[in-house]
Amino acid sequence: MPKIPVKVVTWADIVRLSDELAEKIKVSYSPDVIIAVARGGLVPARLLADALGVVDVLSLKVEHWVVTASHTPEARIKYPYKVDLSDKKVLIVDDITDTGDSLILTSKFVTENFSPKVLRTATLQHIASSSKYQPDFFAQIITEWAWFMYPWNYWEDEINLVRKLLEERKGVKVSELERDFEESYGVRPPISLNKIEDEMRRRRLI
Ligand code: AMP
Repeated sequence: MPKIPVKVVTWADIVRLSDELAEKIKVSYSPDVIIAVARGGLVPARLLADALGVVDVLSLKVEHWVVTASHTPEARIKYPYKVDLSDKKVLIVDDITDTGDSLILTSKFVTENFSPKVLRTATLQHIASSSKYQPDFFAQIITEWAWFMYPWNYWEDEINLVRKLLEERKGVKVSELERDFEESYGVRPPISLNKIEDEMRRRRLI
């Protein structure tokens, strides 16, 4: 069985982390524009925009970790565009820095194509042990790597984690994988495996 340390993050955790992050940012920075790294940074960016009173929220689609807990070799901007932010203080927001590649790439892209007056970066969580980039602001520092299941990603993560189990347990019904899931990932699945089985069938994955 594949062993991957997984942590389930709840909506209550997200509200607490984004409140803490907003408080840290307020002390020294007032962005005019927030750029969300899609998709992981979309919800944190919207919550920060509310807490900081920012109306202009843009987004850049970065592809890196396409499948849960397995990343593609290189991060890339999927739909690049240009905009002049030379008179704006900008904040790039993502959910987590793991390798740090997404924020390194996004910062470089924004600097070269948007020319911001000032640029800062922020994440809810920062994995210090694996990331080669430290955001300017983060709510929580993580010292031991884990895959964090954020509430906006439960379906996708759970389906991918179940698929990893099915590779080893061919022929077993998804709804019978409760024990394997807990043993392999150290958490109970946040969505019932019956629902996951139905959804995997709807997506023609099984
Ligand atoms: P990075 O490796 O820093 O480029 O991470 C890119 C994106 O992949 C993050 O913004 C998350 O959306 C997702 N991701 C990477 N590592 C994790 C992790 N350990 N837990 C949850 N999501 C992750």
